[in-house]
Amino acid sequence: MQYSSTRNNTKAVGASEAIMQGLAPDGGLYIPQSFPNLAHLPYGEISSYAELAFEVLAPFFEGDPLLSDLAEICVEAFNFPVPLTPFANKAMVLELFWGPTAAFKDFGARFLASCMQRILSKRGEQLTILVATSGDTGGAVAAAFAGKQNINVKVLFPKGRVSARQQQQLTCWGGNIEAYEVDGSFDDCQRMVKEAFMDTGLSMAHNLSSANSINLGRLLPQSVYYVYASQIYYGSFGKRPTIIIPSGNVGNATAAYWAHAMGAPIERIALAVNENRTIVDYLTSGTYEGRASVQTLANAMDVGAPSNMERLFSLFPTIEAMRSALSAWSVSDEAIRKTIVEVYKESGYILCPHTATAERVRRDHFTGQDAIIVSTAHPAKFEETVEPLIGTTVDVPPQLADLLDKKSEYRSINADYRLLFG
Ligand SMILES: *Cc1c(COP(=O)(O)O)cnc(C)c1O
Repeated sequence: MQYSSTRNNTKAVGASEAIMQGLAPDGGLYIPQSFPNLAHLPYGEISSYAELAFEVLAPFFEGDPLLSDLAEICVEAFNFPVPLTPFANKAMVLELFWGPTAAFKDFGARFLASCMQRILSKRGEQLTILVATSGDTGGAVAAAFAGKQNINVKVLFPKGRVSARQQQQLTCWGGNIEAYEVDGSFDDCQRMVKEAFMDTGLSMAHNLSSANSINLGRLLPQSVYYVYASQIYYGSFGKRPTIIIPSGNVGNATAAYWAHAMGAPIERIALAVNENRTIVDYLTSGTYEGRASVQTLANAMDVGAPSNMERLFSLFPTIEAMRSALSAWSVSDEAIRKTIVEVYKESGYILCPHTATAERVRRDHFTGQDAIIVSTAHPAKFEETVEPLIGTTVDVPPQLADLLDKKSEYRSINADYRLLFG
C-alpha cells in the first residue's frame, strides 16, 4: 500500500515512511491510495481484538518492512479491553477509555510508539519526540513511549494550566520521558516546539520528530474499533448502527470514514462538537473557515481549525458530498451538564463531558434508532466537572489509579526552546 499527500505535491511513500515523516514534505497529510475490502475477513475465526486489528491493518502494510512485525505490534499495543455496552433502547456505548491514560488516544499513541520503535531499530537510528500539550495528548504520548528503546520524549506543558491529574500523567514516567513545566501558555509551548524544529542544526543533531494526531500511525489503528463495534452490532441486531463521535481535530471521525470505506456495516457517521462550531457552520454555509478556539467543558475538543479536515476534504471534495456523508451538531456547555445529569439520574451511567456531547446528539436526533455513541474518555479524568453535577465521587479506574500513585518529576523552565536541550 502506498500513501499520497492530500496536497498531491509529493511522491507516494510506504507506511513506515509516512509514519516517520508525520507531515508530508508538501505540508499535506498522508492518505491511503486505496481502501482494502473487509468482505473477506474471517470474522468467525478471529478470537481477540488484537487479532482483528492485525487482519484489518495488514493490507495497509502490504509491501512494507513492518508487515512481518504487525501481529506483534497489535498484541503489544491493544492489551486492554474494548467494551461495547448496551446503553439505551437500540443504543450502545463504545468505551474507548480502558487504556493506560483512560482516553481513546491510547489506541493511536500506543500503536504509533510500537511502530516507531521497530522502524528505528531496523534502521539503527534514534529519535527525540517533542510534544506540546494542553493536557490529554501529552499524557497518552508519554505513556505510550515510556520505556521504548531508541526514543526520547520531551513533553512541554504550560505552568498552572493543566489539571492536577493531567500533570501527574505527564510527569510520572521518568526514564526516556522528560517533562518540562513551561513558564508560559500552551501557545508558548507550541511555539517552542516549532522553533526547535526550525533550528535545523538542532533538529538534525537530535533527529527531532512529533507524534501528533495527524500521523498516519495514529489514525490507522483508530479505524479498527469502528470495524469491531459495527460488526458486533450488526451481528447482534442485523442492523447497521449510526456512529456518533465526539470530535475536535476530527481524527477519530476520519478513522470512522476509513472503516466505512472498507465496508464496515455503518449506517451513518454523525459528529458531535462543542461550542467550537467550525464544521457545523461549514455544513450550513458551504464556506469553510477555521478560527480561534473557545474554551468549553469538553476541553480536548476545543479546536477551531480541525487538523484532519484536509483528510475529510480529500474523501468528500465538494460541499454536496460532505453534506451527504456527514452530519454535525454543536452542543453547548449547558447541554453537556444537562446530559450528564439526565443520564446519571436515569441509569447511573456516568459520562465524561466529551462523551456527553455524543449522547446529547443521540437524544436530540437519533432517539430509538440503531446507534453507537463513542465514549472517548473515562469520567474520572474530568472529576472537577462531573462530580459536582452528579453529587458523588467518580471511582478512578485501576489503570489511572496506578499512574496517580507514581512519583512525579519535571523541570521548570522559561519559554525558550534552547533550555530543552541544555
Ligand atoms: C482528542 C479527544 C477528542 C477529539 O478527538 P479528535 O480525533 O481530535 O476529533 C475527544 N474526546 C477526548 C476525550 C479527546 O481526548
